[in-house]
Amino acid sequence: MIFNHILGMFSADMGIDLGTCNTLVCVRGQGIVLNEPSVVAVRRGTNHVLRNGNAVGLMAKEMLGKTPGSITAIRPLKDGVIADFDITEAMLGYFIRKVHGGRLSSFRRPRVVIAIPSGITAVEKRAVLSSAERAGARRVYLVYEPMAAAIGADLPVVEPTASMIVDIGGGTTEVAIISLGDISVCESVRVAGDDMDEAIVSYMKRTYNLMVGEQTAERIKIDIGSASPMETERTMEVRGRDMISGLPRKTVISSEEVREALKEPIGSIIDTVTRTLEMAEPELAADLVDNGITLAGGGALLRGMDTVLSNATGLDVRIADDPLTCVARGTAVYLENLELWKETMESDQDEF
Ligand code: ADP
Ligand code: MG
Repeated sequence: MIFNHILGMFSADMGIDLGTCNTLVCVRGQGIVLNEPSVVAVRRGTNHVLRNGNAVGLMAKEMLGKTPGSITAIRPLKDGVIADFDITEAMLGYFIRKVHGGRLSSFRRPRVVIAIPSGITAVEKRAVLSSAERAGARRVYLVYEPMAAAIGADLPVVEPTASMIVDIGGGTTEVAIISLGDISVCESVRVAGDDMDEAIVSYMKRTYNLMVGEQTAERIKIDIGSASPMETERTMEVRGRDMISGLPRKTVISSEEVREALKEPIGSIIDTVTRTLEMAEPELAADLVDNGITLAGGGALLRGMDTVLSNATGLDVRIADDPLTCVARGTAVYLENLELWKETMESDQDEF
């Protein structure tokens, strides 16, 4: 135990939120030390990560949709699952080494807690475990994202009362009801922030014959997007390529139009939340009348998301503090209690 503790001090144990949009890493005692997009630049048609030092994360995201012929920037976790194992491994390795500072000698190899989507398959779990091991981790522990999010959002997860967390990320929305340290009911849909961006792209095509990139669509969503009517509606100038003339052009779009475009993905998220509530044990449902719902993930920041969910469920809905970092901060709590909790966590020595 003491030996492990000393080893821990040397080896900077890490908690990782391996998100479809953003990867966050925290180190025991230091908080969040890395927060970068889950994007990797590779040579087109291969999975060779570029070796110029800016092939992963922030720099790679800036290349998305703008890469020259021989290079392509990809998101290895695009739809809430690991779409590309090799590139996920390369990305995880890059982030772990970046945080760790240099080479990982066998003595200093860190233990790593990784938050994974609850809907992940056994094969995908194995892939995350082996990626992290090959990336240099000494021991890998997996925790479910909704649990980590609930802990990061300060919900009373170990108490005999129900807490409900809705984590709207990039690729998936995870909904869970938690009580006594365990997930009681949980649903995961592959509808989240990315689908909102795609809905905006297709709205622009349909309505304005204007092709806009995903990055532009995300900007529109963040700047003027909403799930329920805003006090003062807004407009925004949007640039793209005209589908008929093929030339660059701009147009103006209103927040009402964006809300219309977002109706479908938001409707699916609402359905998932109500479906999860319908599956809850009556006693747990009763607790939620008092405890309400807590929102986490970047999608929690969409204007009026709390209002539409509250209207659909009749429950109080609150947005967690700093919703984008809930999962990462939750993994940090796991790290602090690793000695206590590791027996109950899935790790590389379990069978799936
Ligand atoms: P993941 O866990 O899948 O990496 P995150 O929790 O990091 O996802 O959330 C990323 C998503 O949140 C993206 O789709 C992003 O566009 C969206 N997002 C971030 N900020 C906002 C905002 N202010 N309004 C609406 N959506 C936002
Ligand atoms: Mg997430």
